[in-house]
Amino acid sequence: MRLTRHIALVGSGAAGFDLTDPLDCHVYLVRGTRGAALIDAGAGASAGPLARRLLAAAGPAGDRHLLLTHGHADHAGGAAELARLVPGLDVRAGAPADEWIASGAEEGLSVDRGKAAGVYPPGYTFRPCPAVRPIADGALVDLGGGVALRAVATPGHADGHLCFFLDAPGGRALFSGDCVFTGGRISLQNLHDSRVPDYAASLARLAELEIDALLPGHHEVSLARGTRHLLAARDVLARGLLPGSIT
Ligand SMILES: [Zn+2]
Repeated sequence: MRLTRHIALVGSGAAGFDLTDPLDCHVYLVRGTRGAALIDAGAGASAGPLARRLLAAAGPAGDRHLLLTHGHADHAGGAAELARLVPGLDVRAGAPADEWIASGAEEGLSVDRGKAAGVYPPGYTFRPCPAVRPIADGALVDLGGGVALRAVATPGHADGHLCFFLDAPGGRALFSGDCVFTGGRISLQNLHDSRVPDYAASLARLAELEIDALLPGHHEVSLARGTRHLLAARDVLARGLLPGSIT
């Protein structure tokens, strides 16, 4: 599903548009002249079609990137299979989630809690992805043709959570993972690394950005005037409250 000149939605599960496996988050494909990037990997069952989309967009000699917003299985569970299917895939995640993804640490990634809650089927296993490497706050991924992504450290939903800010000739976008959704909603969960002070600081930081599109990990997307969603979250924080939480 094409969203802008440079962005397509290529994966989406039951908390979205039912394009791919029900467990998948939104998976976005960003294309430049030098290569292409997937934002998030889905839970794993859709790795084949996602790999084909990435390879086609990057071209035979183009750079191939997989940028993970965080380690939860609906976002990162497909990383190992994508790394197997896509030669030379550059897999990145924020620390310390990169280590949990590399080793398949289901407690760090809260997969154990997700299974207990029925979010993931009892037989689901998170496949370790040793190819993942850390990406620092502020790091740039240049896809060529004026299309560049910048990592923005945004802990609070989970440790190591990153958003990715896209600057492209067609406009600016924020891939916000599970940090902020349309209407300024958030995802604060009863998990070991869901942290209120970090979350508030991350939302205040995001409110400084000027964006056209807000492209979260689930639910609706917003293709214009995206800054209003970031300001909505900031305005609730300014009243000493937390924005409404969804998953
Ligand atoms: Zn999450």
